[in-house]
Amino acid sequence: MDTAMAFPGFVLHLKRAFDRHGYELYAVGGCVRDRLLGRPVTEYDLTTNARPEKIKELARETGPDSLYSVGEKFGTVGVIFGGVHVEITTYRGEWYEPGSRKPVVEFGTTLEEDLSRRDFTINAIAEEIDRPGLIDPFGGSADLHRRLVRAVGAPEERFRDDPLRLLRAVRFAASLGFEIERATATAIARCASQLANISRERVRDEMTRMLTGPAPDRALLLMADLGLLELVVPELLELREVATGGGRHKDIFAHTLAVVRGVPPDLVTRWAALLHDVAKPRTIGFVDGEVHFNGHERVGAEMARKILSGLRYDRQTIEAVAKVVGMHTHANSYSSQWTDGAVRRLVREAGDLLEPLLDLSSSDITSYHLHKRRAAAERVEELRSRIARIEEEASIQAMRPPLDGHDLMRMFGRPPGPWIRPIKDRLLELVLEGKLAPDDRETAERIARQLYGQETGQAESQAAQETP
Ligand code: ATP
Ligand code: MG
Repeated sequence: MDTAMAFPGFVLHLKRAFDRHGYELYAVGGCVRDRLLGRPVTEYDLTTNARPEKIKELARETGPDSLYSVGEKFGTVGVIFGGVHVEITTYRGEWYEPGSRKPVVEFGTTLEEDLSRRDFTINAIAEEIDRPGLIDPFGGSADLHRRLVRAVGAPEERFRDDPLRLLRAVRFAASLGFEIERATATAIARCASQLANISRERVRDEMTRMLTGPAPDRALLLMADLGLLELVVPELLELREVATGGGRHKDIFAHTLAVVRGVPPDLVTRWAALLHDVAKPRTIGFVDGEVHFNGHERVGAEMARKILSGLRYDRQTIEAVAKVVGMHTHANSYSSQWTDGAVRRLVREAGDLLEPLLDLSSSDITSYHLHKRRAAAERVEELRSRIARIEEEASIQAMRPPLDGHDLMRMFGRPPGPWIRPIKDRLLELVLEGKLAPDDRETAERIARQLYGQETGQAESQAAQETP
């Protein structure tokens, strides 16, 4: 752990500006955590005893690229330097949910008070900016060493104060690969139902961060085990025990988590992976002892709409996820026997969701048998290259020279005749070779004139030779 690593220049400039006017300024939160873990820092959280208006004034002195308010009510000012975000927050006394009727912010008076209101010890470490030094009243660096997420203060009280912390604990444990300290985990399980008391928008934003971050499968498993999933997407719990006949139980939940982990960290793709089989428990049927889930993609798409609307996702995201869920069995059914027409229909129907759909499809086999997983991935690879070939062929078919026969007849004032073909062919050849843009009429006209001159010149000289 290298605490002596210098802060970037713009953070040092901020520190000097605050110093000059007699205000305190410390680094806190994620950036300190990441520095202590030796990870790259992508954004900075700073905290100060200056009030938001003052923060703006002082930050402006350091010439940032831009300055914005992050809910000024919460005392946060955002500044950007060379694309890097810095959020500067006034010491806080309490955290309140946006939109709650309680007073929105209570400013704190000291750094210690501010740190004592933060959620987890690993997030409640402050760092000096222009010299080495940590202010770590809750043992956060020891917990970083032990890889533990531990609530600051009495866990149950802290979770009741702001139940979003229930989800944050899980997210930090998953994304950092940490354990949740025992008393903190017990408190989470006991307070789980409190999650119903916060706005769905906050839950949504936390789910988004969780799903697009590292180890989303671990986050979901923790949520399920701690009783949180029940309050966010209870439908997923039905996947845990689905009887698939013959006395065998197949855990579709475990399969789902593996698929989520297997797809790229894109929001639509990850949600689609999480919900692709959500309707299996509701569509299960048996024919001659064989299990089937007829129509689970259609019912699943409907359930996805309902789940994501409930979480207040935007229309576009909802419809995108529903579409991928609704199409996943179609994409999964691809085989080499498909005609080009069948491939084209899939591509057209998927539209701009083709990538999420194919990503889901290649991850949607989680058999223990390596050869089956490989076969699934290869099948989708084959589909991808067929799509690429068909698209290339289509774009080649669609290539036209900038001038057609009518254009040429008009240009040279001549009726149709065999003189047109060689000029058109040559223009098309130049387009296919990439030497002439398909819409560059001007150059095409110049070339056509040259070619026409050669053609008629040749014809005339031929005529001259033929005449004795
Ligand atoms: P990252 O940005 O990498 O997800 P972070 O720790 O910076 O992690 P933020 O959500 O950016 O997390 O919050 C910055 C800091 O503010 C946290 O480290 C924590 O100290 C504090 N914080 C944020 N939300 C809460 C909350 N709901 N309750 C208490 N403290 C919070
Ligand atoms: Mg942060």
